[in-house]
Amino acid sequence: MISRFAKAFIAIVVALLLLSTISFLHPNSRAYLDPFSGELLGEDGMEKSLRKGQPPPPLAGVEGGVIMSKLGNATAKAALGRATWKLIHTMTLRYPENPTQDERDALSSYFHLLSRLYPCGECAHEFQQLLQKYPPQTSSRRSASLWLCSVHNHVNERLGKEIFDCAHLDDEYDCGCGDEPIGTSALPVNEAVEMMRGGR
Ligand SMILES: Cc1cc2nc3c(=O)[nH]c(=O)nc-3n(C[C@H](O)[C@H](O)[C@H](O)COP(=O)(O)OP(=O)(O)OC[C@H]3O[C@@H](n4cnc5c(N)ncnc54)[C@H](O)[C@@H]3O)c2cc1C
Repeated sequence: MISRFAKAFIAIVVALLLLSTISFLHPNSRAYLDPFSGELLGEDGMEKSLRKGQPPPPLAGVEGGVIMSKLGNATAKAALGRATWKLIHTMTLRYPENPTQDERDALSSYFHLLSRLYPCGECAHEFQQLLQKYPPQTSSRRSASLWLCSVHNHVNERLGKEIFDCAHLDDEYDCGCGDEPIGTSALPVNEAVEMMRGGR
């Protein structure tokens, strides 16, 4: 004769065995809640493992206001500007001639994030307004580099600086990277500049 205590003990053991079998067979039940972010994470710590078959969520943080405060030091502001222009012009001049949708999204997100995080808050504010008026052109290396050249010229104009001739982009930013300059592509660069000027 089994005592009531033994019956209860066996029932608990069976229930525990059942629960552990279910958790072993069903991967999502091995997910856990990140104690810091509150996000539900899969076994491998990747949120996407719980989203199989669904499109990725939109990239958070791309849209939004300026994050940084005013940069009072004029020398630091100018040095930061020169370094940034060098980086982003070189980037657009090395951008693919025929970018994929993912590459186009990446470039567009990059400029929008830069307009939030640029370390000179007042410059970032002006840059955000420029991006609203002239959204990043990402369909090719040529359109991206000429778009940026024209945006830089808008900044030059506002600051009372000389306007740069965008037909000279290749010479100015020859990084020695061994890649094809935009001037050797199907449409000569000066024709493309004319096209941009005419708003075509
Ligand atoms: C996004 C952004 C916003 C900024 N906003 C402000 C602002 O609001 N107020 C402020 O005081 N400063 C701002 N700056 C800094 C400013 O644009 C200059 O970088 C800084 O004043 C130093 O100027 P510079 O005369 O040395 O030449 P820069 O304008 O820094 O240019 C560096 C070099 O790039 C070349 N160049 C010039 N124009 C072009 C062009 N159109 N296309 C390609 N190459 C070109 C020239 O060879 C030039 O010497 C900003 C910088 C950036 C990146």
